[in-house]
Parts: sequence; structure tokens; C-alpha cells
Amino acid sequence: MQTIAAFDRMGEENAFAVLARAAALQAEGRDIINLGIGQPDFKTPAHIVEAAIKALKDGHHGYTPASGLPQTREAVVRRTITMTGVEVSPDRVMIMPGGKPTMYAAITMFGEPGAEILYPDPGFPIYRSMIDFTGAKPVPIPIREENGFAFSAEETLSKITPATRLLIVNSPANPTGGVTPRSEIEKLVAGLAQHPHVAIMSDEIYDVMTYDGESHTSLLGFPEIRDRLIILNGWSKTWAMTGWRMGWSIWPEGPGGARLYDNVRKLAVNCWSCVNAPSQFAGIAAIDGPQDDVHAMLKAFDSRRKLVAKRLNAIDNIRCATPKGAFYAFPNIKDTGFKSKDLAARLLEESGVALVGGPDFGEYGEGYIRFSCAASEEQIEAAIKRFAAFLEKNKDG
Ligand code: PLP
Repeated sequence: MQTIAAFDRMGEENAFAVLARAAALQAEGRDIINLGIGQPDFKTPAHIVEAAIKALKDGHHGYTPASGLPQTREAVVRRTITMTGVEVSPDRVMIMPGGKPTMYAAITMFGEPGAEILYPDPGFPIYRSMIDFTGAKPVPIPIREENGFAFSAEETLSKITPATRLLIVNSPANPTGGVTPRSEIEKLVAGLAQHPHVAIMSDEIYDVMTYDGESHTSLLGFPEIRDRLIILNGWSKTWAMTGWRMGWSIWPEGPGGARLYDNVRKLAVNCWSCVNAPSQFAGIAAIDGPQDDVHAMLKAFDSRRKLVAKRLNAIDNIRCATPKGAFYAFPNIKDTGFKSKDLAARLLEESGVALVGGPDFGEYGEGYIRFSCAASEEQIEAAIKRFAAFLEKNKDG
């Protein structure tokens, strides 16, 4: 089934293309401010780096079990208890090379021609790309500004059909910064009782990144769906470890879950054998070590997201909801008269500001543009000044 045609259907993540173009312009000597990329601009905390160096010096150079070192999986169990109060079995925890491979595993296990998979739009582009790869029908769940960029339980449930195999949810969300409130998640879970044929993949990679006292609600807190729930999470964002390629997934309880877990273990054996050993030691240090650097990073993101919203809202024709989570702002640019991708492209070429157009996250992203707050406040201020000046200069499109 995964033929050349399937690979031809595979999409991409345009943020990487923006990054490449921004780097090329920088290499030409242009002054570029990059608010395009979804990675923290902080270094991995020193004690985590030290743990990886120690692991290498101690001789951890070989393969680990395909599902991850037992002690790394145990660390994930501890972290899950801290975040959600739920004790999962280490036999359902899989250490993955980043967050993305869990998407690949879950979507390819459920997707095939004739199946339908529900995914957030705008949402992380790889969901849609992987659904297309499998030949399943992609069914977007619109994520609406008027709903605070939360997903609507009612609208989500209304899209389920007998052919639906998998529902993908993401909160806190990329690219919108939306956080879906607990009440809406409770409604969704209650409604899912009518649809026992639907599995759920909850992407909780931004779980610590909520602001204004808003708290993250993990779907793990709902035992009634534990036998069909896959959790995607990882180290990339929380501990500024995007390049380490460290993620984890938690697979469903029960015999069906055991089968899925065994399948993902086999996928590892066939594709990557295991995640590199020193990174897995670093991952333990990240979870068990001091969290001061994480808190400092969250404080910086909190202050930046308020700054971005304030400065953007001061520009004519721009409306920006203050992000409730993650580290992205997703302003509405509809009144500028520009199409999102044209605006993003021209801003990079003419003003040296790298952003990602909303449609790179799905068709419902038209009319929006993503600002990543992964830059200093000075850079954010400067980027928004350039953005305002560009709009002023090109008032007539
Ligand atoms: N899920 C979401 C919602 C993301 O925004 C990202 C990265 O941007 C990922 C998953 C993938 O993370 P990783 O870099 O660990 O593969």
C-alpha cells in the first residue's frame, strides 16, 4: 500500500523551508529576524547535557532495547504521574526518536483507503501529511478563532462516521496557541462513549506550556477511553531538546493496546533499532533533575506572548488573540487584504522577518499567520515594527 504514489502524496512542514530560506538570506548578509521556527531559542539545560556526556564516558555506546531503556521508560511513568496523576504501565511506554514518529506509527496503524481520520485544522501539518500517505480520507476539524482556538467537542463528534478510525487532538496547540478547556474535553470524552470504534491520539507535547492559570487537561485522566488512547509527548519543547530527537508515546491499556505496542516496538526494530543511548540518559536527567530552567523558559514565553499580542493588536487591521498555551501567536490578518502565504513570503524577502503562513497548517489557516515567540523580546519588538511598516507601505496590497 505504501507505494511510490503514497510517498508522492506525503506533505512537508513548511517551517523547515522558511528556515532554509531565512538561513540563505542571512548567508547573503541580510538581517533576518526568525519567528518562523517552532523550537525554543534556549539551550538544553546544562545538567541534561552533562548526563549525556557522562553516559558516553561511561560507555553507553550500544543498542538499547527497541522500546527504550527500562529506566527511561520508568522516568516517563514518573513524569506522567506528576503531570496527570495517572500511573501508566512502563510496558505501554515507548521511547521514540522525537514526537513525530508517534504520529507516523499511530496514523499508519489506523489509516488505509476507506478509513477516515479526523485532525485539527489549522494544526501540525504532519498529521494531514501522514493521513494522505496512508490513503485514508482526511477529515478536518476546524479550529476557530471565535472559539478561542479550542476545539469544539460538538463539532468534532458531528464529524464521526462508521468509517472513522482515529481522532487526533492537540492542546495546547500549534500553530494557534489555543488551549481547550476541561469542560470541552469532558464533553468530547462523554460523546466518544457512543463511538467505541474510534481510537484517539492526543498530542500533548506542549503540556507544561499554559499561562494565566489555565491548566492542561490530559486525556489520560479519563479511564473510560484508556483502552483506545495514544498519548504523544516528548522532550523537544519542554526541555529545549529539539535536536536530540527524544519523544515518548503511551499506548492503550488492554489486549488491543498490547498489540499496538508490540507493533510500534516492531516498527522501531525495523526502522531505527532504538533511540541513541546517551540521549536516553539525558532524558532521565531532564525528567528527574531540577526544573528551574524550564520555569525560566516558561516565564520568558509568558512575557513574550503578551508582548506579541499587545504589539500586534496596536496595528491597524490586525487582531491577535492572546495565546493561552504553547509559544505561538496566530493573528488574524484578513483585513489587510493580503493572502497569508503572500504576506509571509513578502515579509521575509522585503522586510527580513520569517513567519509561517496560516495555510501551511491547513485550509482553515487562511487569513492568519504564525508568529513563534522563540526569540528575544528585542527581536520580537523589532520584527513587529518591520511588520507594521510593511503593512503601512503596502496598504493597497
Ligand atoms: N507535535 C506538535 C504539535 C508540534 O508542534 C511538534 C513540533 O513542532 C511536534 C509534535 C514534533 O516534535 P518533535 O520535534 O519532537 O518531533
